[in-house]
Amino acid sequence: MTAPHRRPLIAGNWKMNGTLKEAADLVNALVKDLGSPSHEVIVAPPFTALTVVGELLKKSPIKLSAQDMHWENSGAFTGEVSGAMLKDAGCHAVILGHSERRRMFGDTDGVVQKKLKAALAQKLVPIVCIGETLEERESQRTFKVLETQVKGALTGFAPSDLSTVVLAYEPVWAIGTGKTATPDQAQEAHLFVRKQVAGLYGDALAQGMRILYGGSVTPENVDTLMAQPDVDGALVGGASLKPIGFLRIVNFKSPAAH
Ligand code: PEP
Repeated sequence: MTAPHRRPLIAGNWKMNGTLKEAADLVNALVKDLGSPSHEVIVAPPFTALTVVGELLKKSPIKLSAQDMHWENSGAFTGEVSGAMLKDAGCHAVILGHSERRRMFGDTDGVVQKKLKAALAQKLVPIVCIGETLEERESQRTFKVLETQVKGALTGFAPSDLSTVVLAYEPVWAIGTGKTATPDQAQEAHLFVRKQVAGLYGDALAQGMRILYGGSVTPENVDTLMAQPDVDGALVGGASLKPIGFLRIVNFKSPAAH
């Protein structure tokens, strides 16, 4: 059960999926059946669909996020999109350091930190992803990896700079694999991450910071994950592309909801 001062957040990462029509159909289906959720809801379409989806979300509580950004505002960075451009396109949030970016596109902890600084300067809510690979877990390096990633991304700020930051614990072995961390594994990692944040910036910031779980979250497993005290929401990939399933995740049932 999430602490009452941390509003649960469910974010859908659409990854590289969707024509403009498919994006519009998906978001229209979500808006139609969402109602007034007590939890915060975010969708992250690909760059090309941001303005179309943003337009369709105008009268909805669902907020718009991008999946990545560059750390400079403008300039000779062919193929990149800046935080200033995301803000201009209507984004509220941006996902940073997703493991697919880290693994395939060279996003190191240093890169994530630069992007975080730029996102905060644009008043975008950063959703910073961290998580260990299977090999790291099996060789008992999970905590060391999480510590390095948290420190790598979050050092060099004042605590007040980081009040809007959201972390997403996404074990790489659970992303898109159908293998979800058990609620106990998720809770253990989230508590560890919160303690790392407390060590860097104090308990007040750490207790206020939302830590999402990501990795094969489905309508079937969301309730038990969300029942954990340090799991404050979910970052959802595959299951966010199906409106009925995503809405079931958004309306998860945990002891907090009773
Ligand atoms: C993700 O991409 O952030 C993710 C968690 O994907 P999936 O839900 O498909 O595992």
